[in-house]
Formats: sequence, C-alpha cells, structure tokens
Amino acid sequence: MIFEVPPLPYPKEALEPAISRNTLEFHYEKHHKGYMAKLKAAIENTPQANQPLTEIIKTTTGDIFNNAAQVFNHTFFWECMQPNGGGAPPAGPVLDMLKRDFGDWAQFRKQFIETGMKRFGSGYVWLVWQDGKSQLISTANAETPIKTGIKPLRTADVWEHAYYLDYQNKRDSFLESFCDKLINWSFVQKQLEA
Ligand code: FE
Repeated sequence: MIFEVPPLPYPKEALEPAISRNTLEFHYEKHHKGYMAKLKAAIENTPQANQPLTEIIKTTTGDIFNNAAQVFNHTFFWECMQPNGGGAPPAGPVLDMLKRDFGDWAQFRKQFIETGMKRFGSGYVWLVWQDGKSQLISTANAETPIKTGIKPLRTADVWEHAYYLDYQNKRDSFLESFCDKLINWSFVQKQLEA
C-alpha cells in the first residue's frame, strides 16, 4: 500500500487557462490528499493496511471503498491530462479505435460531453475498454470501473470541485476544454496497450 499520493505530473499552473492553478491547488492538496488521509485513518489496524490500493477497492464498501477509490480515480485523472493536450488523437491505434467505435473525433467528443452532462450529481466520465471495444460510461460519486475489472482508458472528474472555481455551473464548458486542451493521448494509448 502506498501511503502518499504521487506528485502531480506537471506544475500546478501548467494546465492554465483550461484549469487554473487555484483549482489544481485545492483539488490536489485538499481533495486528493484528503481522501488519502481519510483512507489511512480508516484502514489503520485493519487487514486492509497491508493491501495494495486496487485490492482494497475490489474488496471493500462504504468509507474505506469511497476513499480508496477516490485516491485511485484522482491519480488516474491527473495522468489523463497534459499541458497543450486535447484535440483529436494523432494518427495511430487510439484514433483508429475511436473511428471504429464512435465514427470520428467530433462524434466521440459530442458523446463524451453528453455522457458527462447526464451524470446526475458527482462522478466521472470514463472511456473504458469493455467487451472488445471502447465505450463511454459515467460512474456516480467514487465508483470506479476497476472495481468490477473493467479497464479504464481515460477519465474526467465531473465533481463540482473539479471545475466550479473556473467554470461555475458550466460543466459543459469544462468538458469542452478537457476535450480541446487537456487530454493526454499518449497516456490513453499506454492504457490501451497495458
Ligand atoms: Fe475530484
């Protein structure tokens, strides 16, 4: 079990203006590290204290699951973004996959934003690999595809804490920025090949 969240893969101002330094400061320092602190407190002196994070996620419910899943989901989310990212993926296996399963980049982008807008309350929009193809799904609160063995390729956090300081209630504007300026396609490709 790793008892600290990994460092952010870029400086906190690196995603501006799509995500401000202020948002990343709160999101990483208070929320992500906060989930880890609560997880550590909850598993102290329990069998989970010596288990890998993914094992805890697969075998628990309630508070321990929620905090463990949030630790994983945020670490994964940071890796899904990069400065000057987004736009259609470059020619290669990821673009071929999106064309085959969604038609083209514009169709994929539209469906991704719709999936995020339909998630009532807090959660995540995921591109996952399931049943031999890529699919868009959303999950509620801390729920995560790895709980049920589904392979995540990419996620976007749609909890209000992910966008409210920069976009207020405009989740759709945040998701557009995510598509156009943030997606780290080489990370998606790495997940696909993993
Ligand atoms: Fe979050």
